[in-house]
Amino acid sequence: MKIIYHLGKDMGKQEELSKLREEIKKCQRCPLYKGTIQAVPGSGDPEAKIMFIGEAPGFYEDQKGEPFVGNAGHLLDDLLKGAGFLRSEVFITNIIKHRPPQNRDPRDEEILACKPWLDRQLEILKPKLIVTLGRISLSRFCPGQFISKVSGQERWVGDYLVLPLFHPAAALRDGRVHARLESDFAKIPKLLANLEKRQEKNDSGEVKVEQEKLF
Ligand code: URA
Repeated sequence: MKIIYHLGKDMGKQEELSKLREEIKKCQRCPLYKGTIQAVPGSGDPEAKIMFIGEAPGFYEDQKGEPFVGNAGHLLDDLLKGAGFLRSEVFITNIIKHRPPQNRDPRDEEILACKPWLDRQLEILKPKLIVTLGRISLSRFCPGQFISKVSGQERWVGDYLVLPLFHPAAALRDGRVHARLESDFAKIPKLLANLEKRQEKNDSGEVKVEQEKLF
């Protein structure tokens, strides 16, 4: 019974994500689609507990239709591995689903136009932990905060625990950022374990402890 229940649940999310993927592929909410090969909706485990959110697809992502498949993506894979995760166990997406020309920063109106896609991905996936990669992704959850100040410091944003991290592309340019990113990634397994403990306590009806006390 239990196995059937879990399979059913997986299929639900999988199906919803596939449908959403098709909608994103056809997106013309802003003019960005005109200069690209394809949209890059995001990919990973529909039951992922962690969602990584980058900025926008670059050259290779536009070619392949998958997020983080260039140099920054290879580093992301290494960082995930170092923290004990496979790419296939998490979900990876971006704030913007089409590549901006020459990889320029996304504009406010493009971020706004693209917002409903990420909102729906969050609704479907309901990740336990959101890891923002870089300043554009940070500002979606924590407007006005500086990545250099808050990197590696988790915080509650509504129902989500958000861990702001530097973008892997920044780590490719600067060894100190690389070291910081590695040590910040190493915090993820404990954060997740604490979240799961908290969930178990809530499920078993124990008195709800103040969220901050667990971290
Ligand atoms: N940088 C991003 O922010 N996202 C990608 O998918 C690739 C590079």
